[in-house]
Amino acid sequence: MNTQLTLITPTAPMSAAVHGERAKCLQRLIRLDMPVPVTVALPFDAVRDIAQGRMPDMAALIAPFGDRPLLSVRPSSLDPDWGGPGAILNIGMNARRLAQMKETVGARAATALYLRFVQSYAIHVARLDPDAFDLPDVADEASLHTMLDIYETETDEPFPQDPAVQLAEVLRSMARAWEGTTARLLRQAKGAPADAGLGLVVQAMALGVGPGECGSGVIQYVDETTGLRQIKGRYLGQSQGREALGDVEGAIYLTRDDRGPSLEEHCPATFAQLVAYGDLCRRNLREEMQVEFTIEDGHMHILDAVRVQRNSRASVRIAVALAEDGIIPREEALMRVEPAALSELLHRQVDPRAKRDLIVRGIAASPGAAAGRIVLTAADAQASAARGEPCVLVRRETTPEDIRGMHAAQAVLTMRGGVTSHAAVIGRGLGVPCVVGASELSIDRKNGKIIAPDGRRFAAGDVITVDGTTGQVIVGEPPMLEAALDDAFKTLLHWADDVRDIGVRANADTPADAQTARNFEAEGIGLCRTEHMFFEGDRLGVMREMIFAESSDDRRAVLDRLLPMQRADFQALFGIMAGKSVCVRLFDPPLHEFLPSDKQGLRDLAEQLALPLADVTDRVDALSEYNPMLGMRGVRLGIAIPEIYDMQAQAIFEAMAAVGKAGTDISVEIMIPLVSAMREVELVKGRVDAVANAVRAKTKSTLDYHLGVMVETPRAALRAQDIAEHAEFLSFGTNDLTQMTYGLSRDDAGRFMSAYVQQGVYAEDPFHTLDIEGVGELIAIGAERGRLGRPDVVLSICGEHAGSRVAIEFCRAHGFDYVSCSPFRVPVARLTAAQSALQDRQDDENWSGL
Ligand code: PEP
Ligand code: MG
Repeated sequence: MNTQLTLITPTAPMSAAVHGERAKCLQRLIRLDMPVPVTVALPFDAVRDIAQGRMPDMAALIAPFGDRPLLSVRPSSLDPDWGGPGAILNIGMNARRLAQMKETVGARAATALYLRFVQSYAIHVARLDPDAFDLPDVADEASLHTMLDIYETETDEPFPQDPAVQLAEVLRSMARAWEGTTARLLRQAKGAPADAGLGLVVQAMALGVGPGECGSGVIQYVDETTGLRQIKGRYLGQSQGREALGDVEGAIYLTRDDRGPSLEEHCPATFAQLVAYGDLCRRNLREEMQVEFTIEDGHMHILDAVRVQRNSRASVRIAVALAEDGIIPREEALMRVEPAALSELLHRQVDPRAKRDLIVRGIAASPGAAAGRIVLTAADAQASAARGEPCVLVRRETTPEDIRGMHAAQAVLTMRGGVTSHAAVIGRGLGVPCVVGASELSIDRKNGKIIAPDGRRFAAGDVITVDGTTGQVIVGEPPMLEAALDDAFKTLLHWADDVRDIGVRANADTPADAQTARNFEAEGIGLCRTEHMFFEGDRLGVMREMIFAESSDDRRAVLDRLLPMQRADFQALFGIMAGKSVCVRLFDPPLHEFLPSDKQGLRDLAEQLALPLADVTDRVDALSEYNPMLGMRGVRLGIAIPEIYDMQAQAIFEAMAAVGKAGTDISVEIMIPLVSAMREVELVKGRVDAVANAVRAKTKSTLDYHLGVMVETPRAALRAQDIAEHAEFLSFGTNDLTQMTYGLSRDDAGRFMSAYVQQGVYAEDPFHTLDIEGVGELIAIGAERGRLGRPDVVLSICGEHAGSRVAIEFCRAHGFDYVSCSPFRVPVARLTAAQSALQDRQDDENWSGL
């Protein structure tokens, strides 16, 4: 046989990289002695030639199929998920074959086959209008003539009768379809390389129609949504291909079923054979396969087997079950699950089969889907929650004042902001589905409505669904799939923990977050943003009083009222995280974030403080800054108004003493934000140590703790050596570090980011994908210099990038101790870290094997 054509036999030289996955799989089935009809494979190169008009030796191709060939052609790319042209069956049908088959399978069945072939040839090969080639209700001579006449009228040629010509045209049309722009873009979106090839397999038809038991069906041995072992599929007598799966009358179940007849009852021996083939496939192909079969006069043929398409939940369970049954190693199970799939599992999802009436699309900022009534203010969200009515909080953008509303809402939608905007960060932290930057949506505040890009208006109270996994906002409430933290999921992650070599902690601010972190088996808290605690309950009022205090003593007096609340927060957090490490970051945001911005809020505040409105307004104005993110925040506040950090340190140490007395073991780390100079660390450390000594004396506790620095200004990275002399750990805050390295506002960059990415100025949004070249270089410099200052300095990153593959690979490469990400990303990070370690091992083995 011509070198470009391979008759598939058990020993023929074949590989998926040359002939595609389907061809390779058919060879495996043949090796397993399954009754596969004669099949010839065309490699990628041959199909590329065909697309260019260089046909293979057609006589050689058709020879193995005898002198009256009846054939099918199917696509065979490297990855079946990349798509490809649909199968074409019954190539070789012509007038002579029809006459002969009328004798063997009967006039009706033979005519129906010919009609179907003319139809698919006309539509897919000659590319004629499908509407002109509807199949008739009755497959008779007259309708066949009509269809052949239409073909001839449309093409000015009679329907080709030579099987070799028919086959050549089918091959040419499939080869060209693969090269088309749409097909190329679709497969590239699924990860195919630009030069991905297509192979083709030409197979003798097993008829499925005729005398005796004839028919076709499809069987799989697993449920594609749960991943549980279960026989599924249909069989249809007198049919071909995948017809049984369509909405057709007469298709029967495979296993015994109360709802109707089954193949198990109808043809028990055939059914038993199919079940045995399923086990063979699973053991030898090391995968859950869907098998296409045909019965021809009682004899079974296996035509094809493809990997069962599956959702995320099923992919986890299938990988774990294959490893538990000893079919694949655990390492392979770990590599088979897409980490992003896990994050889908942790949240409810819109059922992929559901119809979606799209309102608008924004940035997918926090995964999962939730439905609720539209509310336009945080207060309405709380009121809605109090009534027990699920709601979706829709805001232009959220501010810290909205936090309680976000807590109360099922989902959040904003028009502005990117993946590190307030709404996005808080949404991920709370596990609340969130879409941000839906800039095509507008709010008609006066009439309490939101307006979709197509002009549709939705009023407060209307139900919408926010799909934070895809970034879509949908009308009403489509059917959902529930989150599933099943055993398979846990097992897979424990295997990941055995393999990975970098720690995974969670960013958690509240006891609820900490509980989520614990549930997802984070190794500790890597970032507790304490300021969020001050927005809770009646603390905001006290906080505002503190801001308005005239003197240090007054401030201290107000802070004394916050102290027990902070202590209780830490006590709860430490209790939940017993046995683990908790890294508490001292107060970070500018104070004005705690002050009202609207008139009514200012009036309420004046009333609360018993001050004239003008005084309050003056004070608020005085605190306002042109550029607050670069202003009085972080350690700068800690130095200018040290009472806040003093109070926080006291609360932390007293909570440690209290839980310690109750027998809870906890390792506490205190982190200073926004450091840019070593002296800042010295000053804060001096005060924190003094507070610790005072609490030690008062409580008679030892109170061991670690003090470290958040490296989030470029200067801190550059000066890491002398900073590390005063800091036991350095945690890189990549949100601010990205903002300051680029000089790019994390809250405003969304406005031009898509133009920048589209025009290739930035390869990706650097707030979304860690910029290895620039920000990464600063982190690498910081890590290296930090180690010079303190060889055993503990290194980590805690910005929003931390759970991503890019960041995890970077941190592993630079010997970091851990990454800390949103609690809901912890499982994803655990699996990603394991896959990264396994990939390195694999690369090392390949290298040493060279
Ligand atoms: C950071 O800047 O990376 C960080 C984690 O802190 P925040 O997002 O609170 O500024
Ligand atoms: Mg920061």
